Amino acid sequence: MDHFSYQNGEMFAENVSLKTIAREVGTPVYVYSTATLVRHFKVFSEAFSGLDALVCFAVKANSNQAVLATLAAEGAGADVVSEGELIRALRAGIPADKIVFSGVGKKAGEMAAALKAGIKQFNVESEPELEVLNSVAEKMGLIAPVSVRVNPDVDAKTHHKIATGKSENKFGIAWSKAEDVYARIAQLPGLRATGVDVHIGSQLTDLGPFKAAFEKVLGLVKRLRASGHTIDHIDLGGGLGIPYDPAEESPPSPGLYGAMIKEVLGDMDCSIILEPGRLIAGNAGILLSELLYVKQGEDRIFYIVDAAMNDLLRPAMYDAFHAIQPVDEPQSDHTIAADFVGPVCESGDTFATGRQTPELEPGDLVTVKSAGAYGAVLSSTYNTRELVPEVLVNDDKYAVVRARPSIDDLIGLDKLPDWLTR
Ligand SMILES: *Cc1c(COP(=O)(O)O)cnc(C)c1O
Repeated sequence: MDHFSYQNGEMFAENVSLKTIAREVGTPVYVYSTATLVRHFKVFSEAFSGLDALVCFAVKANSNQAVLATLAAEGAGADVVSEGELIRALRAGIPADKIVFSGVGKKAGEMAAALKAGIKQFNVESEPELEVLNSVAEKMGLIAPVSVRVNPDVDAKTHHKIATGKSENKFGIAWSKAEDVYARIAQLPGLRATGVDVHIGSQLTDLGPFKAAFEKVLGLVKRLRASGHTIDHIDLGGGLGIPYDPAEESPPSPGLYGAMIKEVLGDMDCSIILEPGRLIAGNAGILLSELLYVKQGEDRIFYIVDAAMNDLLRPAMYDAFHAIQPVDEPQSDHTIAADFVGPVCESGDTFATGRQTPELEPGDLVTVKSAGAYGAVLSSTYNTRELVPEVLVNDDKYAVVRARPSIDDLIGLDKLPDWLTR
């Protein structure tokens, strides 16, 4: 459920007219709903009631300070994958002891920053990373809490670019090596193993792969405990999918996901960490765009909008489906087929092909739905387009939470070497 709906014939975000935002901020622009973010966070958290669970929002899904501060106020922790995300999470008010640090390529300096901040745990993804973390911690006179991210070799049955739990993926430590790695950690004075971590992929629409992975992890935790390791929590990663295309996908509810986890891990006597990103933010945001031109091609109609792949990369990168809805409520059920495309000079700059849509005219506004996760964070300035701004709505108020930079700001980042200055 989200809070983008028609009121008196036009689409609102909560109680703010999207036409007002388009007029005052300009398009393209991301619009997020506070009520939806909070609702998703609560529904997800409540699915784990009765368990000792920490919900760490995956910052890479949406790292805007206002979004993170909204979730921090609800008690969210953070899953970060870089020093930059660590600083974002801390600045937004997420306490260090609710932050976990994932990622296959942490640099020594990033580890030091996280140790200094006092984060909850490092999710370690390789043996060489363990050695580096140990020496960084020793030099600082600290002990790094670590979980080993294991690769359970489970097929997440999702798009290949967001599947992370098969042995051919770069993520996690090979299943067959896991126990040796814990034995090694026990020998390293700068490290303390506290848990086991797994994350098999993103946009999973079936509980089966999760269950298969979690059952394997459960077996591992039992073996590790039997050989004397203190494993007091299990990090189950993120990955629960959302219905981008309700006709195609019906992912399990957080309630069903939580019930499955309770069934598999309920009597393990340990706390759990969850790292949802998309599920919290995905349907809490839309990309608002204006139709510039209607172009009649040889065999199709192109709706050329002012948003492009640099603003929302998911269709180009993952062949992702995003529903597109006009801001003016359609007055009839009549639809035509059209390709929604952006201005960027790439054929991949296509949001939808042959999409059934109410007939539109230049100047009409459209919303590209489910764009709150992996939207603005993946935006770029390709084609020297200004970085897309972000707006956060809260009931009848809205605020620009990332402004559109000027073309001067953008070009000002470049510097001419002295041999080219006139
Ligand atoms: C991307 C990622 C997540 C979040 O995935 P979602 O599908 O957005 O829930 C969680 N944990 C790790 C380690 C990730 O890389």
